[in-house]
Amino acid sequence: MATKIPTAQNRMFKNVFVCKNCGQKIRTDSVRVIAQKVKCRRCDKKVFRPKKTKKK
Ligand SMILES: [Zn+2]
Repeated sequence: MATKIPTAQNRMFKNVFVCKNCGQKIRTDSVRVIAQKVKCRRCDKKVFRPKKTKKK
């Protein structure tokens, strides 16, 4: 199911954030999220959380 290849993990989960309001996924820099330069394109909110893998 889940791939263990680190590069694939990075490609899928690195710099991907999820809108806390509507769940829209956004690919952007974490720096821009922290600086609140990113706006959700669906609901225009600025609250994001990093997309996480289910397994550690
Ligand atoms: Zn949103």
